[in-house]
Amino acid sequence: MKPLASGFKKYLMDVDDISLEDVRDILRKRLHAKHPTEFPTGAAGASVAGLATRIFHTNTASASASVECTQCDYEEDLVDHNLGLVLHQMSNRSESTGLWLKNLEHHTSKKCPDCSQPLRKLRVLKC
Ligand SMILES: [Zn+2]
Repeated sequence: MKPLASGFKKYLMDVDDISLEDVRDILRKRLHAKHPTEFPTGAAGASVAGLATRIFHTNTASASASVECTQCDYEEDLVDHNLGLVLHQMSNRSESTGLWLKNLEHHTSKKCPDCSQPLRKLRVLKC
């Protein structure tokens, strides 16, 4: 994000006669250098979701995650989790975005230490 903001600032302040296309090209070269498969050069396309994910990447925890039993009251303490700042749905689901966000959970291969039933991991976005 910093190179993009810096490029826009140079454009707005008319530094080095830089154009928006120059800013785009600088960013494309940097993305390609770091992730050549995801961001090819030339006319080949790239994923918009992938681009947004890379631009808005942060190491700051954006969510909390907990593990709980599917059958009893067992649950582990909340831990910081990084979902990133861009969420994109990989499949075509007809459910609402609100319902989708409520169900950011998945089953783990772990079993409950109290009743041996499957555990599930829940992730909650921090606001
Ligand atoms: Zn249990």
